Amino acid sequence: MMSVQSPNDTYISLGEKLRRVNLQALGLAVGLLALVITLASLVISALALESNTRVMTRVLADNAAASLMFLDKEAAARVLATLEHLPDVRGAAIFDTQLAEFVRYGRFLAEGEGRQKPSLSSEHAQFRLDTLHMTQPIVENGNVIGVLDLDLDLQPLYTQVFAHTSIVAAAALLALWLATGMLRRLNGVVLRPLTTLSALMERVAHTEDYGARAEPSRITELDSLAIGFNRMLGQIAERDARLAAHRDHLEDEVATRTEELLRAKEAAEAASQAKSDFLATMSHEIRTPMNGVLGMTELLLDSDLNHEQRHFAEAVENSARHLLGIINDILDFSKIESGQLELESVEFELGELLEGTLAMFAQPAEKKGLELVADLPPEARRCVLGDPFRLRQIVGNLINNAVKFTERGEIVVRARLLGEGAEDCRLRISVEDTGIGIPPHAQQKIFDQFSQLDGSTTRQFGGTGLGLAICRRLVGLMGGEIGVDSQPGKGARFHFDLRLPSGHSTPEALRCDVALDHVRTLVVDDNATNREILLRQLQGWGMHVECAADGAGALGLLAHTTAAGEGFDLAVLDMHMPHMDGLQLASSIRANPALAGVRLVVLTSSYSSASVRERERAGILRCVHKPIRQAELHEVICSALRGPRDTGGDARTPTAAPIALAGRVLLAEDNPVNQQVGEAMLAKLGLAVQFAANGEEAVRLAQAEAFDLILMDCHMPVMDGYEASAAIRAGVRAHRVPIIALTANVMEGNRERCLAAGMDDFLGKPYSLGQLHAVLRRWMGAVADTAPADDKPPAAAAAQAADEEAAIDRGFLEQFRELDPAGGLALAERIVGVYLDSCGKTFAQIEEAAAAGDGEGLRRAAHSLKSSSGNVGAKPLYALLRELEGLGRDGDIEAARARLDDLRRAFARACAELRALRAEIGP
Ligand code: ADP
Repeated sequence: MMSVQSPNDTYISLGEKLRRVNLQALGLAVGLLALVITLASLVISALALESNTRVMTRVLADNAAASLMFLDKEAAARVLATLEHLPDVRGAAIFDTQLAEFVRYGRFLAEGEGRQKPSLSSEHAQFRLDTLHMTQPIVENGNVIGVLDLDLDLQPLYTQVFAHTSIVAAAALLALWLATGMLRRLNGVVLRPLTTLSALMERVAHTEDYGARAEPSRITELDSLAIGFNRMLGQIAERDARLAAHRDHLEDEVATRTEELLRAKEAAEAASQAKSDFLATMSHEIRTPMNGVLGMTELLLDSDLNHEQRHFAEAVENSARHLLGIINDILDFSKIESGQLELESVEFELGELLEGTLAMFAQPAEKKGLELVADLPPEARRCVLGDPFRLRQIVGNLINNAVKFTERGEIVVRARLLGEGAEDCRLRISVEDTGIGIPPHAQQKIFDQFSQLDGSTTRQFGGTGLGLAICRRLVGLMGGEIGVDSQPGKGARFHFDLRLPSGHSTPEALRCDVALDHVRTLVVDDNATNREILLRQLQGWGMHVECAADGAGALGLLAHTTAAGEGFDLAVLDMHMPHMDGLQLASSIRANPALAGVRLVVLTSSYSSASVRERERAGILRCVHKPIRQAELHEVICSALRGPRDTGGDARTPTAAPIALAGRVLLAEDNPVNQQVGEAMLAKLGLAVQFAANGEEAVRLAQAEAFDLILMDCHMPVMDGYEASAAIRAGVRAHRVPIIALTANVMEGNRERCLAAGMDDFLGKPYSLGQLHAVLRRWMGAVADTAPADDKPPAAAAAQAADEEAAIDRGFLEQFRELDPAGGLALAERIVGVYLDSCGKTFAQIEEAAAAGDGEGLRRAAHSLKSSSGNVGAKPLYALLRELEGLGRDGDIEAARARLDDLRRAFARACAELRALRAEIGP
């Protein structure tokens, strides 16, 4: 019988257990039976013995009665001697009535040997362990005349009983053996189905074959067990089938859903693609004619016009610019809505950006008589990483609204540092005005698209209602939130917080060769905010500052301090003040000989300042343009204090007329009006133009003829600008011709894509003559020197160019002069300084990357040095770095190493020339 596998050895099989139980029960029954039989046999045998012996004693007593009567001992002895035929009789004796022994037979126990006195009264039998003692009265004629005692040996009785017992025990054992055999067979009959069932269970557990079934055993309990088990298997199988069906169904369902989702996703992507295609087309379609309108108007305005014609042309230009603003808003908004706007992360100086943005509104603010003030404490003037273009757009939008909705008072742009971490900083930027304000119920609504306050306001002020919606989304993309605090009639304060990663550089410290410490300065401005900010700013530079709110107050203070022997060294006067303006105040000061030592600086607007002669006459040394830029103020104060008194000087030199360029440009442009605009502008810049009406033609011309530069419209029939540029780059002249992308598409306004197609720069449409000139200046100098292209491989040509060209193209100075708030070369000098300070490190990184065979590192370092080298006009170096960048990208380290000597030479020359240049233009 199979024993159940178990870790516990005390477990035994059911068969074994049954066998043991049966054996115990049978053993007990048979033993009990044997015992009963033995005892019964003993009792029966003893009773039979007693009965037989009684008969015998009676016979003996009867036979001995006569002998006793006649006291005939011999006769009595003969009677007793008959007992010799009965070997079991041990002994016997006859006693008379006095119980004296009359005669004795055999070994009869005497009275002292434990025998009692015999009794005459009745028959008596007594069983002892080994003897049966019988007493039989002897009666004669009804009288008891004596008594017979007899002892019978019980050994034969025991022997007989033992024989009986043995037979019974043997029979019992035989019965037990037979019963065990029978049980084993019977147990087998019962247990086999159980074992089969158990084996089946085990098999099902292992194989999970729920289709198996237990056979009937014709044993009720086992059958009901088997039926239960079969039912359970049935249920499991059914459940499995249901589960499988469900799973199949689920898989089908998932497959269906996935397919539906995929279809929905594809549809959404197609819709999104359609939307961006539509946007791209719209952008192109709208901006392209705008380029024509604005370009032609600009050219028109540049020609000889009478007053009326000029007025009309200016009206056209204003309307066109306004329309362009609206179009830009709508396209920007759509771009953000379709999730296609990606923010850049480049380093910029926040203070400069905010000041520059504010300066863009100088003219409209001036027209309305509004003060534009930048409140930017030193801790908020920092280099950060972010998207300067979009930040400028947000702040510009807010300032634009502020100007639009403010009739008098001021607009203040503030930046505050809220907190600073190891890698980033939190800044709050706000734009405050003193305009009409916004009622509380509208303060949230205005951030929704197309929402404006009441229609009359809208009509009065114009606008699309998209500006703030764009601001909110842009701020949201930058991880901030925009809000407004306002009271109707008391102005509005728009603010947003940004967390921006800190930049790697710190803003250039303002340098001055004159000590500003303790310079006694008088600030005269009717605007309290301006006074306060000027006070803080000048005090920050170590100056002693006092303020006056008008001319009379200033004159009083000047007279008073001069009398006290503590005259002012410098007076900073606001040009526009009621009662006595800056010019009048300056004249009054100059008229007083006691105040001759006070140097005068005025704060003026660019657009309606007094003439140079008027200022000269009033003894004004320098002007600072409002909105005040810190660097400009600093530079003007330094120069005013430094002397000589170059009176009348303006911090901003008028923008120079475009410097004529020379060379041949291929203009790939399909729009005939834009061809004309382009041709006219290029001709104005002194350049010869060749047209290509589409990309294919541009490729053909670029390969057949030599050009100094290609202006490539991105969107053209037959072959677009990207494809055409790639095809030109694949040709032999590939490396020699700079290609500038012209894009009218905000969706394509992505420098990366243009660069990836092999173009070098891009210019957004519509573009102005100034913008076109700036881009061409960046690229044409070096090209003009090396063109026409020859058959040398590009690398060799570049190396030769690096040796022959001037290491630095000074054209870049012009750009920085234009960008410099003070109109001088301070910005250029600063940038050259930064370049010289930082370029060594980047150059070392290039060498290291080349030595280590690190293509990506080489690309990165070359790219970084390339762009800064481009900024300082190091064109030959730029060309080499661009080549190295490409080699790094391709992982062609060997070729890159081969160019290292040329690069070192070009780098050393560029640095030497830049050092000389810095000494030349430095203060
Ligand atoms: P819009 O192109 O009409 O100026 P915006 O989204 O920029 O669109 O502004 C929405 C509305 O919010 C404006 O029409 C104006 O009613 C209100 N608003 C915005 N800025 C100001 C402000 N500085 N002062 C008062 N109202 C403002």
